Amino acid sequence: MEEIYLDNSATTRVCESAAENALYAMRECYGNPSSLYSLGLNAERLIERTRRAVAQKLHCRPEEIVFTGCGTESNNTAVFGAARSLQKRGRRIVTTAVEHPSVARPMDQLEKEGFEVIRLPVDREGKVPPEEIFKAVTKDTILVSMMLVNNETGAIQPVSTAAEAIKKAGAPALLHCDAVQAFGKLPIDLKKLGVDLLSASGHKLHAPKGVGILYKSEKAHIQPLLLGGGQEKGFRSGTESVPLIAALGGAISELPEESVGLQNMQKLWNYAKDALLKLPGVEINSPDDCLPYLINISLTGYRSETLLHFLEADGIFVSSGSACSKGKLSGVLSAMGLPAARVDSALRISFSRYNKTEDIDKLCESLERATKRLKKRG
Ligand code: PLP
Repeated sequence: MEEIYLDNSATTRVCESAAENALYAMRECYGNPSSLYSLGLNAERLIERTRRAVAQKLHCRPEEIVFTGCGTESNNTAVFGAARSLQKRGRRIVTTAVEHPSVARPMDQLEKEGFEVIRLPVDREGKVPPEEIFKAVTKDTILVSMMLVNNETGAIQPVSTAAEAIKKAGAPALLHCDAVQAFGKLPIDLKKLGVDLLSASGHKLHAPKGVGILYKSEKAHIQPLLLGGGQEKGFRSGTESVPLIAALGGAISELPEESVGLQNMQKLWNYAKDALLKLPGVEINSPDDCLPYLINISLTGYRSETLLHFLEADGIFVSSGSACSKGKLSGVLSAMGLPAARVDSALRISFSRYNKTEDIDKLCESLERATKRLKKRG
């Protein structure tokens, strides 16, 4: 049976250049990148090539890029590092109610340690209202952490407004942005966004799992999470995964210009929205101006998990809410004020450059069959 993969916000298929680079690094550049002989230097060169490619995408200096093991590590490093380094200047932290668990759980931990954590609400579209940000950021705020693109709905958050609010309040706060769902898809200009720390992850853009990115501006003096041999300029100890970093470089080299990717995806998104809305009972949970790489829908009366397995039997892979919250009701859709029955029937359909309109047609055919065959609840 043909496989139709529509869960690209969870992870992506590794692209050819990424796989080739990884293999090359494993076979030819297996030296320790810290070693001083040529085998080590060759490995180091591969790392630096990817570092330059990432920096070019983000319009920053290569020295400001740190490689980590995943997006989760980048988020943990940024949040704990900023809080612990700035705690003498205040204990107030501002974040949102819709962050990924890799930001939300560190925030819970910091709260237990005595920090005051403000979680900004979202509106019906899943976006943080700008006035809430200005209200929350006070002069003793030390960290603001806001994602750029929500992983469940694709809603784009007003990150640059957070930078304005910090400036207006005269706060010492660092601004961290979880851009795991945005990097490589949405043009990111760090200066315009006003962020000090930004996280991304390789496996969302056709690199293998196990490589993350942390942008750390020169002015962000934060404590590292991992101590040891002093790799990554002392900020992230541990021998670098040369194959995975090289693979990330390959994946970046295959990415289309963000504007071109966005244009193509918007066509696919519009097609998907129109086709899905023709099915009886489908409601769209993503805002119209979301990142067009994903669309969140509900088919109230049918449980997400049941639908997901029905689709799977037809070779179609989608996600129920977010892949990181298996079995749990989505906190994001609940924070948007959607009724529990709608949240309980949510599906996330997420695209990559490998998807075609025919994939959407097959998804819709399968969903239609599901509504005819499955018993409706309630
Ligand atoms: N942040 C967001 C918004 C995500 O969607 C994810 C993964 O789904 C992560 C962080 C975690 O990234 P990783 O899987 O690389 O740890």
